[in-house]
Amino acid sequence: MDVRELTNLPTPDFTYDPSLPGACVTGVRPYRKGTFRLDSEQSSGRFIVHNYGHGGAGISLSWGCAAKVKAMVSQFLAGSPQTEVAVLGAGVMGLTAATMLLDLGLKVTIYTDRKPVETTSFKAGGQWAVSVVETAMNQQDLKAIIKTSYTTFKDSIGKGFGVSERPNYCPKPAEGLDMVLNLLPGLLPARQRLSRLPFQNHTQPGFLYQTLLVEPPIFLPRLERDLRARDVTFVDKRFTSKADIFATAPQKIIINCTGMGAKKLWNDTKMVGVRGYLAMLPAQPDLEYLYSRNGYMFPRSDHVVMGGTPDWDKEDEDLNPAECKELVNIIAAAFGRAAPVPMPMNHIDHPGNRRLVDPRLSVSD
Ligand SMILES: Cc1cc2nc3c(=O)[nH]c(=O)nc-3n(C[C@H](O)[C@H](O)[C@H](O)COP(=O)(O)OP(=O)(O)OC[C@H]3O[C@@H](n4cnc5c(N)ncnc54)[C@H](O)[C@@H]3O)c2cc1C
Repeated sequence: MDVRELTNLPTPDFTYDPSLPGACVTGVRPYRKGTFRLDSEQSSGRFIVHNYGHGGAGISLSWGCAAKVKAMVSQFLAGSPQTEVAVLGAGVMGLTAATMLLDLGLKVTIYTDRKPVETTSFKAGGQWAVSVVETAMNQQDLKAIIKTSYTTFKDSIGKGFGVSERPNYCPKPAEGLDMVLNLLPGLLPARQRLSRLPFQNHTQPGFLYQTLLVEPPIFLPRLERDLRARDVTFVDKRFTSKADIFATAPQKIIINCTGMGAKKLWNDTKMVGVRGYLAMLPAQPDLEYLYSRNGYMFPRSDHVVMGGTPDWDKEDEDLNPAECKELVNIIAAAFGRAAPVPMPMNHIDHPGNRRLVDPRLSVSD
């Protein structure tokens, strides 16, 4: 069908007061130059699996990385039987790894200085896309991680994990989704070209993707509940050093899912904080589409979330209501509901900013 014949989809209500509690949120993407870390080492008599540095794609890659963690631990157990494992971190990487490790019959203890609802993972926008992350690793491993992650999320639709399939409309190709379409043809539904985006004030051509929306405020508490129901213990602990970890956690197997915390704990100089702001507007149930243009809009059941700022080398989580207001104005301007805003150089045009992704995996259109 010619999209010009389609009725426009509903226009968002852009009414927004950034000074209201919870209306402006900030988080720091744990970005690792080269690639996220997913490997193991033996140190001080411990078997340590590292699982951190997933930048702006931690939710998206979580289940696949957890499956790799499980495989590494399973291999270790074959030569050195153990009954317990320590998981460091209660963000999405720690909770999904812990979930999969239970399948090995291990007693799991999670050590963390933040509750799941206080982590960066809980703040994430929640689109399934491999963006704002570097992936210079074995391509077979990468394919397996992406495939397991996507299919696990897709299989959990309708089962109380906060996952739904959604259309994403963009004026330009979304690199974080094109990368997956090219690496794993057939995994995601094909991308469609549109002669115009079906929205008020839009006359330009664009693209339509089918992707997943993972709502962290539903997903993380669900994982935590399920883990507690399976006798996983959460220990409130802030580690100050590697030695502190070894002195505190008696388990021989340690899974390091400390996100930005790994920078100091493992002296990992490849770790860079990429701060982002999110404007949280009231929920609008009639919006069923994701939209990406000089930022993005994800309509979740708790809020309509607008984001897309990558502040490089910034690790503080200070709120900035003016930045949040600007995120809303940029999207509102595209719908003709605000005066055009000159776009700052550092905004993400769409999920998968060209500058931020491993160039070997980027796809030009
Ligand atoms: C604004 C924004 C939007 C995003 N949008 C998306 C998106 O749409 N899709 C997507 O896939 N990803 C998105 N992300 C990225 C995603 O949030 C991260 O990649 C993911 O949260 C990383 O998970 P993690 O478990 O490694 O880290 P975290 O969630 O930060 O968890 C780290 C855990 O380690 C613990 N820890 C750290 N240091 C210590 C210490 N010294 N002692 C004890 N405990 C410690 C913390 O308490 C925490 O429990 C977004 C991120 C931001 C900031």
